[in-house]
Amino acid sequence: MNKTGYYGQWGGAFNPEVLYETFRELRAAFAAAQADPAFWQEYVALMSNYSCRPTPLTRADNLADHFGGARIFIKREDLNHTGAHKANNVMGQGLLVKRMGKKRVIAETGAGQHGVATATMAARFGLKCTIYMGEDDVARQRPNVFWMEKLGATVVPVTSGSRTLKDAMNEAYRDWVASMDDTHYLIGTVCGPHPFPAMVAWFQSIIGIEARKQILEQFGKLPARVFACVGGGSNAMGIFQGFLANPEVELIGVEAGGHGLASGQHAARLAGTDASPGVAQGYKTMFLQDDDGQMRDTHSVAAGLDYVGVSPILADLWEKKRVRFSAATDAEVMGALELTMKMEGIIPALESTHAFVQAFKEAPTMGKDEALIINMSGRGDKDIFTIAHAFNDPSWKAFITKKGREYAAE
Ligand SMILES: *Cc1c(COP(=O)(O)O)cnc(C)c1O
Repeated sequence: MNKTGYYGQWGGAFNPEVLYETFRELRAAFAAAQADPAFWQEYVALMSNYSCRPTPLTRADNLADHFGGARIFIKREDLNHTGAHKANNVMGQGLLVKRMGKKRVIAETGAGQHGVATATMAARFGLKCTIYMGEDDVARQRPNVFWMEKLGATVVPVTSGSRTLKDAMNEAYRDWVASMDDTHYLIGTVCGPHPFPAMVAWFQSIIGIEARKQILEQFGKLPARVFACVGGGSNAMGIFQGFLANPEVELIGVEAGGHGLASGQHAARLAGTDASPGVAQGYKTMFLQDDDGQMRDTHSVAAGLDYVGVSPILADLWEKKRVRFSAATDAEVMGALELTMKMEGIIPALESTHAFVQAFKEAPTMGKDEALIINMSGRGDKDIFTIAHAFNDPSWKAFITKKGREYAAE
């Protein structure tokens, strides 16, 4: 990264003029925190006391024996507080907010996971919290909205545009412009204008630091390949950073293949051929957009991977061929999920299961003396309705045939 936050040709900070001072302040606070070893120590202590870090690296011999190739290890980010790696980022930014002396955080959320994590942090740190969410998502994600409110956050349903994530993002920006003196906008992934990608990647690097140490202890050498799912790219960047300096370790990002790359209904930015370079949401990356630069509708069974952009850091690593990209379809995800549950007693989030799919495809082709690591970004409990629907479980019919709006009406 250079001074202005470019990774090769990707990234940057395309901000409205009024936010200039706020971004200057944020860059300075982040640089000071990075230069202060006590800050990182405070962060690690917080994560071990409040969020079960270090998370285990679980050896999955049942799966490895089944596929008959590489030894399989699973990095258990599902065991974080609130059930995913998102806790690493929100708690880290929370410490930074306290350092800057701000009293309020805002965030936007699609599926609601980032909203719940942010509301949790705000409760713990005594910060005011407003979460923006498209009206359609508020209806679809009723349980998450319930918890955000019980944790003390204000959830604002956004009724403009398509009433989903990108409209919520616009509203959050509008709020920030009016409130930046006492408010921090807590971006949930390694995207957005500089310094957000660098900052979120830094907090998530705790995953890779731990995983590297753990695989050396448990396996005696580095893994041959590391797999992670890619929505915005934060869990992937988190674990990849532990191995980036070792070119012999192959890094594989797995995007949402949805109904298949040929269907157009997917969120494969770097694995497919549908994305093109663009500037939107304050940064430059490969976006799924039409010829006029309008963002396309994406599709994935995993809400957390259903996003038009991707981390500028990953776009750079893709261009440099340091990270290889593939996509897993919704159907493949359901197969890998069932196998993992039955063989290891582990329920990965639908997002994380994308990484399992690609690892399962490659494991049999690898040597028995090699190891692979799958980053399990989160737990699947939140996906109960979707999974029940996909497996056609009749006992859940009453819930899953209702549209989101009908839940909201109850
Ligand atoms: C949000 C989420 C993701 C996608 O976000 P990244 O920034 O790509 O990591 C992946 N897995 C889980 C469990 C999530 O909640």
